Amino acid sequence: MIFDYSYSQLEELLGTLGEKPYRARQMYEWLYQHKVTHYDQMTNLPQSLRDQLNDVAPLRLMELATKQVSADGTQKFLFRLHDGHLIESVLMDFDYGQSICITTQVGCNIGCSFCASGLLGKKRDLTSGEIVAQVLEVERLANVRVGNIVVMGIGEPFDNFTHLMNALYTINHPWGLNIGARHVTVSTSGIVPMIYQFADLKTQFNLALSLHAPNNELRSRLMKINKAYPLEEVMEAIKYYVATTNRRITFEYIMLKGQNDLPNLAHELSDLIRGINGYVNLIPYNSVTELAYQRSDKNAMLEFYDILKKRGITATLRVEKGHDIAAACGQLRSVNL
Ligand code: SAH
Ligand code: SF4
Repeated sequence: MIFDYSYSQLEELLGTLGEKPYRARQMYEWLYQHKVTHYDQMTNLPQSLRDQLNDVAPLRLMELATKQVSADGTQKFLFRLHDGHLIESVLMDFDYGQSICITTQVGCNIGCSFCASGLLGKKRDLTSGEIVAQVLEVERLANVRVGNIVVMGIGEPFDNFTHLMNALYTINHPWGLNIGARHVTVSTSGIVPMIYQFADLKTQFNLALSLHAPNNELRSRLMKINKAYPLEEVMEAIKYYVATTNRRITFEYIMLKGQNDLPNLAHELSDLIRGINGYVNLIPYNSVTELAYQRSDKNAMLEFYDILKKRGITATLRVEKGHDIAAACGQLRSVNL
């Protein structure tokens, strides 16, 4: 479909159809600024070209299955893909603007023990067009202009690297969705070789690492991916990312009652990340029916936070959104209705 094409790929496609490269700019403006839903709305393209495009690269948008609105205004969109799979995207309204959380895969193969998205395994990767179209459709359906994007929905983005990057380039492109790279954050569970590749692209996109534990024993228990890529290797890769890109890294740390929220672990975490240009985002755990984990008590979270502060580590306690409609972090799943 047409949203799969990066700008240069679109120029190439138009070339094979005997068209000049400037058509790509015209088409990008129709697609991403005017958000048209049919080729016939592209009135400055010749009819014959519109017909050809309709055959080779259909302008296909995702079908909205349901939309839920949370008490705090968060909106969760369930989209049906052309092959029937369902994915979710979440629109959050923060004081600094509208932010959208997007999905990169149908399900997830990483299988972290606390996460709903991993319960069913991965069904397939999304194409780059399906990743881009989530932003486009949410902007169109909710009639908003999104300022920030977090790639923290269903799936492991670095397990779908090529499509992810292609999508981010379209999202960032001045004639595409034109969202600044510094306003886009990709979260990974720690796929080491891909952290290096991401760093070497030297983009301005932000990276967040799902850390969740300061030592291998605990991290492997929570996230089995840690057995393939242990903490020492992940931290080396993160240091390389920070040094190569000069960007700050975010460490995500979900607070699981009695598991990773003990004061000694806050000290251990401080030692682990001291000296790295980054900060810790403490995230209240969101319940998942099938899983036995519980959210840490408020006091435990505050104490953990205080220890990090006292040890000179920058930390934030994340404001949670959309918990009541299961639209919060880690509650997303590729359900069948
Ligand atoms: N697969 C990527 C990105 C999607 S998950 C990753 O794991 O980083 C986005 C974030 O939500 C991750 O930090 C993940 O660990 C966290 N998360 C997963 N389940 C959660 C839950 N039930 N409550 C809160 N956060 C959760
Ligand atoms: Fe996959 Fe991320 Fe969930 Fe782990 S936390 S199972 S990597 S989506």
